[in-house]
Amino acid sequence: MQRNENGGIIISCDFCGTDWDEELSMIEGHKGSVLCLACLTQALDNTQPAEDTFQCTLCLSGHPADTKRWLHPDAKPSPGRNPDAPLCWDCIRLAAKGFHKDSDVEFRWDSSKYPKQV
Ligand SMILES: [Zn+2]
Ligand SMILES: [Zn+2]
Repeated sequence: MQRNENGGIIISCDFCGTDWDEELSMIEGHKGSVLCLACLTQALDNTQPAEDTFQCTLCLSGHPADTKRWLHPDAKPSPGRNPDAPLCWDCIRLAAKGFHKDSDVEFRWDSSKYPKQV
């Protein structure tokens, strides 16, 4: 997400609240939402079925209950963090592909390990 602080715009990961330092690898979603690589790597292996319907923070799509989603388990409260930020499986896969293609990012993923949700 973006916020104004002391007249400047600060970009931060919605999920963990880490401020962007122009070095961190991050991917942008809709409405200025942002996902960092650290959160993406966690999300890949820690999705859970949603207890209720939810709206994904990155793509803003609504998803039914029991759809795979990820929530940051222990993010510290921070002005850069979205306190209610679920992430859908489609976005996780898309972000993983995005980071995978970026030669500046040390992240490779094996799509066969992470099947598309049916
Ligand atoms: Zn993050
Ligand atoms: Zn999504």
